[in-house]
Amino acid sequence: MTTQTHIAVENPATGEVIGHVDDMTAQEVGELARRARAAQPGWEAMGFDGRARILKRMQRWLTDNADKVITTICAETGKAYEDAQIAELSYGAAAFGFWADKAPKYLADERIRSSAIFVKGKRLVLRYRPVGVVGVIGPWNYPLTNSFGDCIPALAAGNSVILKPSEITPLTSLLLAEGLAECGLPDDVFAVATGCGPTGAAVLDEVDMIMFTGSTATGRKVAMRAAERLIPASLELGGKDPMIVLADANIERAANHAAYYSMFNCGQTCISIERCYVEAPVYDDFVARVTEKVRAIRQGVPAGPGSIDVGSLTFPPQVDTVERHVDEARDRGATVLTGGHRGPDKGYWYEPTVLVGVDHDMACMREETFGPTLPIMKVADAEEAIRMANDSEYGLSAAVFSRDLKRGEAVARRLNAGAVTVNDALINYTALELPMGGAKPGSGVGHRHGPGGIRKYCRQQSLLISRFNPRRDIHMHPYKATRTRLLGRLLAILNRGVS
Ligand code: NAD
Repeated sequence: MTTQTHIAVENPATGEVIGHVDDMTAQEVGELARRARAAQPGWEAMGFDGRARILKRMQRWLTDNADKVITTICAETGKAYEDAQIAELSYGAAAFGFWADKAPKYLADERIRSSAIFVKGKRLVLRYRPVGVVGVIGPWNYPLTNSFGDCIPALAAGNSVILKPSEITPLTSLLLAEGLAECGLPDDVFAVATGCGPTGAAVLDEVDMIMFTGSTATGRKVAMRAAERLIPASLELGGKDPMIVLADANIERAANHAAYYSMFNCGQTCISIERCYVEAPVYDDFVARVTEKVRAIRQGVPAGPGSIDVGSLTFPPQVDTVERHVDEARDRGATVLTGGHRGPDKGYWYEPTVLVGVDHDMACMREETFGPTLPIMKVADAEEAIRMANDSEYGLSAAVFSRDLKRGEAVARRLNAGAVTVNDALINYTALELPMGGAKPGSGVGHRHGPGGIRKYCRQQSLLISRFNPRRDIHMHPYKATRTRLLGRLLAILNRGVS
């Protein structure tokens, strides 16, 4: 017998409890998985067109219910209205349409041509079949984008999906599950398993493939369990993304990107700009501009469009991490140019903060801060900037600013990051055709987006189809003289090619 417990969901901007969800047991997750497994063949049999109709209806549902969705996201994350609108609702709506359209192309049978003489005249085909039941485990920073961004391609491929959202932000997932049901998704094809870490571990124990987004530490545990079960795992983990500003950059553009993309979503984006390296001749100008822009940011409780620029932190312990990084840097000689304090109100707050005089012995330059801070470091030249940018266990994304596009691209190509932008930042994430993932283990294994972003939810099946031809088929006469003669002829043909 199990005892049902509940998790209280808080609005991190106000500290108010806004709902409760079940803390699901392993037994309950097992039941969801049993039903998901039973529903999957019917969903697969609906084909790309049948599934696309429902996914497209859901795209429409998201825009029709935009206010409700954004309000729910803001309430459980504390983020600004625009952060939810741009980076969650718009992304989600685009993703439902994108995967509905692209699944048939990315998962089409591939005709394979082979140089092997033994398969001459035979039809070789590579096909993609859904794995069955996919588990998606999500973090709290983007409850729609990070969880559904992975559920959608998994569904489009014909899988059932069990989503385990973060226990901090489960309400958006439950709302979207209602939307999917309204749009005609067959029962049990999609389920939300609310709960904490043990619920995630239970999901991992039931599914045929796991897609995990979260911290590097949890990702390691997930990878170990997936290895024990011998199921495929795709891991999108932490980041410490660098930005390099070369002396010939447009400094206003670079400063705008640095200020916006370090503070966007209160700095709680895996691909946030977390550290800056600036060539000495433009350092003072860049620092002055960034400081002015960050100082002007309006932080507060989100109250609809245009009310604030940056909201609260979402995860309570994050305030301690940010404080530790800033205090440690200050103690070691860094200067705080703006911000540098916890907020005084109820909820979880830290001021938008700019730090200078930092070095690579400081946690703020090495560990993921995941908060509204931007440490800026002066470098002698591009070589030093590249060395510093690559001096990290992480390698998710990076940005380079230079008016000389050739030079900018040359620097970009030397950075060990999964994605690098030149004179831009983060916006590559909206191009769903372009793969995104970590280049170093600390940032994950695998990719989302692009053809690989849906093929990973499939098993490959190779088909070889032979026409029956008794005169030409050497395997028709095993252990007979004809076989030896035919093999001899084949070898002679092959050897002719070698000489
Ligand atoms: P987290 O690792 O604490 O939790 C992520 C999820 O894992 C949660 O749903 C949690 O309940 C679950 N979980 C915890 N223990 C588990 C276990 N043993 N087995 C299975 N599931 C378990 O991460 P978080 O604090 O929610 O998210 C923040 C982190 O996510 C940051 O490091 C950030 O960089 C990263 N992130 C990465 C990306 C990316 O695309 N690379 C995107 C967003 C966030």
